[in-house]
Amino acid sequence: MPTYTYRCENAHRFDEVHTMHSVPERSVCPECGQDARRRPAAPHLSAAGSSAYGLIDAASRSAHEPDVVTSLPGAPRRPGGGITRNPLHAKLPRH
Ligand SMILES: [Zn+2]
Repeated sequence: MPTYTYRCENAHRFDEVHTMHSVPERSVCPECGQDARRRPAAPHLSAAGSSAYGLIDAASRSAHEPDVVTSLPGAPRRPGGGITRNPLHAKLPRH
């Protein structure tokens, strides 16, 4: 079961274990007895370091640093061509 962190008005932090379906927003601080509110983050559920996190990281990195492509996939080869592979040369006037 996940652990939830609470923080009271006197800045005491403590953890409580609850099921995800019954997490109280408020609790009582065991140190001073004040009202404590649940912190929004669940630090024990961090995905960092897991295999899923590595997969997400690799996928997001490929969006910014794609692998170098050396040839166009399915590029038509013109008969008689092959002298140059520069696509700008195809725009030159032909005689
Ligand atoms: Zn307290």
